[in-house]
Amino acid sequence: MAGASIYLDHNATAPLRDEARAAMLDAMGPPLNASSIHDAGRKARYLVEQARGDIADALDARHADITFTSGATESNNMVLAGFETIITSAVEHSAILAPRPDGIRIKVDENGILSLDALDQTLSTLDEAQKSKTLVSVIAANNETGTIQPLAEIGKICQAHKVAFHSDMVQMAGKVPTTIAIEGLSFASFSAHKIGGPSGVGALWIKPGLTLPAMLLGGGQEQGRRPGTENALGIIGFGAAIKAAISGLSHYQEMASWRDEAEAELQDLRDDVTIMGRGAPRLPNTSSVALSSVTSQTALMSLDLKGFCLSSGSACSSGKVAASHVISAMGYNELAPHILRISGGWTTKRDDFQMLVKTLATL
Ligand code: PLP
Repeated sequence: MAGASIYLDHNATAPLRDEARAAMLDAMGPPLNASSIHDAGRKARYLVEQARGDIADALDARHADITFTSGATESNNMVLAGFETIITSAVEHSAILAPRPDGIRIKVDENGILSLDALDQTLSTLDEAQKSKTLVSVIAANNETGTIQPLAEIGKICQAHKVAFHSDMVQMAGKVPTTIAIEGLSFASFSAHKIGGPSGVGALWIKPGLTLPAMLLGGGQEQGRRPGTENALGIIGFGAAIKAAISGLSHYQEMASWRDEAEAELQDLRDDVTIMGRGAPRLPNTSSVALSSVTSQTALMSLDLKGFCLSSGSACSSGKVAASHVISAMGYNELAPHILRISGGWTTKRDDFQMLVKTLATL
């Protein structure tokens, strides 16, 4: 790789925050089974509960309503498994779409915003018995485009129809103020590694009074909701990361102007640029750009050689560059093979966007 790399792929995963590393290193070594009743176990329990409290406080939740999981994929799967009828947007992450291919997909507009009318109409076709077994699941902020969904309106529609409402809040948390205090919201998923915590740990917020069938059977950890010895170190890192993320939100506010400036410059320098989701509220760190004369694959390889870490859309576990279902659902099928996702984070500087634009101009 030429020179130091510039990492603009925070929506795939973020570098570990110093605060998370320090908290984990501090706790690392002694036995950490939070269910043990001896001194070491009690210390582990204290640290796990402290992290649970930090995460809950950051999201305006009660501590007891946060369940730790192995990540947002598990949190999402756990919620989906609890319902017969699933209604989602067409632009969900694969951790929502893949587990329930039978789910009803609600269309989105050209900015990726869910059609509230279509959601309302779809729910109106269900009878009361079906509604009691129905879950609406809508991503809070899209991982590919950063588009922010109107969660308050969606929650009101779900409440009016008396159906459960889940939101995958993985990408929103730590980038803009994020709360579970949304009318009608029943469940919300979170992941540590997207905010500078370690990977392999996530959380599910469950509204008081609601229950879900456990996907794993075994011990009684996490109130029996998610048995298995807690990943104490990961949870400790998660707690430290979310605290640091909340106190660093102003950095993201500033980033929106760096991102906007970079997008405008790129459009001045090239005539093949389309910016996705620009007509809707977006996360401040994300830019989804199509360069119609270059495929994502070619652009990413060339950028990689020049020291830039980006992706085409969602990070695909196979390492292949696949055309995005999100971009297609927004009506840009022909541009789907041309998408570059630029996503800054807590390590990003204005210069990183500037240098990327200069390089993109030469592709
Ligand atoms: N949901 C969204 C929106 C994501 O971006 C991701 C990460 O790719 C996930 C869920 C899955 O999270 P995890 O890696 O913690 O399983």
